[in-house]
Amino acid sequence: MPNYTAPVEDMMFLFDKLRNNKNYNEIEKYKEVNSELVKNILDEAAKINQNIILPLAKIGDENPTVLENGIVRTPPGYKEAYTKFIEDGWTSLSCDPKYGGQGMPKTVSAFFDEMLSSASLSFKLYSELSIGAYNCINHHASEEIKDKYLPKMVEGKWSGTMCLTEPVCGTDLGLLKTKAEEQKDGTYKINGQKIFITSGDHDLTENIIHLVIARATDSPKGTKGISLFLVPKFKVNHDGSLGQRNGISTGSIESKMGIKGSATCVLNFDDAVGYMIGPKNKGLNSMFTMMNLERIVVGIQGLGISETAYQNSLSYAKERKQGKTNSSKSSNGADIIIEHADIRRSLLNMKSIIEGERALCFWLSQQTEVSLYHSDEAIRKEASDYVSLMTPVVKTMFTDLGMEITSDAMQVHGGYGYTKDQGIEQLYRDNRITPIYEGTNSVQALDLVFRKLVNKNGDIIDKYLNMIRNDFNKSGQKIKPFIDDFNNSLDTLNKFTLWIKDKLNNSKDDASAACNDYLKALGFVSIAHSWIKVLEICFEDYDNNKTFYEDKIQTAKFYFKRVLPRAENHFKTASTGSDYIMNFKFN
Ligand SMILES: Cc1cc2nc3c(=O)[nH]c(=O)nc-3n(C[C@H](O)[C@H](O)[C@H](O)COP(=O)(O)OP(=O)(O)OC[C@H]3O[C@@H](n4cnc5c(N)ncnc54)[C@H](O)[C@@H]3O)c2cc1C
Repeated sequence: MPNYTAPVEDMMFLFDKLRNNKNYNEIEKYKEVNSELVKNILDEAAKINQNIILPLAKIGDENPTVLENGIVRTPPGYKEAYTKFIEDGWTSLSCDPKYGGQGMPKTVSAFFDEMLSSASLSFKLYSELSIGAYNCINHHASEEIKDKYLPKMVEGKWSGTMCLTEPVCGTDLGLLKTKAEEQKDGTYKINGQKIFITSGDHDLTENIIHLVIARATDSPKGTKGISLFLVPKFKVNHDGSLGQRNGISTGSIESKMGIKGSATCVLNFDDAVGYMIGPKNKGLNSMFTMMNLERIVVGIQGLGISETAYQNSLSYAKERKQGKTNSSKSSNGADIIIEHADIRRSLLNMKSIIEGERALCFWLSQQTEVSLYHSDEAIRKEASDYVSLMTPVVKTMFTDLGMEITSDAMQVHGGYGYTKDQGIEQLYRDNRITPIYEGTNSVQALDLVFRKLVNKNGDIIDKYLNMIRNDFNKSGQKIKPFIDDFNNSLDTLNKFTLWIKDKLNNSKDDASAACNDYLKALGFVSIAHSWIKVLEICFEDYDNNKTFYEDKIQTAKFYFKRVLPRAENHFKTASTGSDYIMNFKFN
């Protein structure tokens, strides 16, 4: 089983030193969320994740969820852990105090999301979709529905799902077939089948609140005829108590490559009673509230799994002895493999990406809070544009790099990485879903290029690139080489941006074939921007924490020399166009 120690020191460094962002500081409701409070939360979070949830990863992998006589049973130990999890209030961390939540900002809940992903992604998914459903209901439902459903969801006694996918559609939801027929009392009868529904059924909670997209019988075809419905597993009486079972049954659960402890269900809706949430035919817009936040959290899943992969690779590399290095002093036997240049390169690749991603994620969490809660509408809008731009980037970069890092972790472990002994291959298998669900990474890249660069508020990418170019407070000889490298890669990204904007107008196939590369280039540069912000603190505050800051500076050195230059290569290959791709005849 892999080991895991929550990186509380790095998280607290970000919270203490990078929190000082003017717009974020102006949010009234977070003024009392101070360093001491957050440290206490993270210490407690570390304990439950390291001691109780981490062991469930292997248990869930070896004892997948099962469907027995119509009941979905989670792996051994899940129920007990979930009971403790909700008793300790972890489902309520970022929820509104009005419904029993603790009202913590995303800067804090994102740290918790990372730890939980590091410990066990399967276990995490049971509460993750509930928080997503909570957010969607909170944004779009009537007060009556919110009062009835949210307190139990925040408490964790009821959970939530997101029911989009059907046998005929995953990416293209306009094709969906599930029907909603309006009844005299204003409710709807839902009929249809949803597949691949995470936590669609299980034995952890008393009720499950499904958020289902369906087409009302008088609605148009395509995405413009989709509405959103709340469909509870058990109907809820006026006084909030549980009523009869609704018309929802679990057809089967999927047997999967990874996240085997997570129940991925086929759900059949047969005359199930549903309540419309938000305006008719605007269901996808409402669902996007959930999906956009979820996409960032899926990115964090990739980051969390990468951290576990790195920690175990590091400790294995310090123990395993094989071969001799060029400067070996060993006269009998071999050197530990961490002495080999290529192993060191691999470990630094992991570490520099992970720490950069964590800093970028912290910045994005702050922007999310500003976009939701700042008192000035113009500032909210600007932050919202940045969040919208960076959501596909974080989802895709962190999960794709999660594949690279878990694969490299297996490599560092050699044959023991491929076999089950160390639990490393499970990290690879568990992470493999993250580039697929919540919108595949290819579709994220298309979304970025075709919809997010420029929108009705203007040229968002230009605004973002200008912002990061001028976002430096410090100059000086020590940080200069990093800033020079950063500016070089930013120049490349500017050229790439001009190129892709031209292709959007003149050759859409060139733009489509380049969008994955463009997303990666933007991602590597954005992570570099976060590294620069980290480095500013390191040089400024150096004498107060030499060991920690020196480690950061040396890690950043690797990122700027070995990782950031990948952005250039993405531009080089993408700018060769797409004729030779589109004209190829597959036999
Ligand atoms: C374990 C698991 C859990 C899941 N949980 C949920 C859940 O809780 N709720 C839910 O609703 N769904 C869930 N899903 C479904 C998941 O979101 C979809 O599988 C995913 O969105 C892709 O849809 P698809 O499988 O139909 O693939 P398709 O849409 O058929 O895509 C197939 C391939 O074509 C590519 N492609 C599709 N359209 C385009 C395009 N326009 N341009 C370029 N390339 C394109 C895709 O990138 C992909 O590579 C889950 C799936 C799994 C496996």
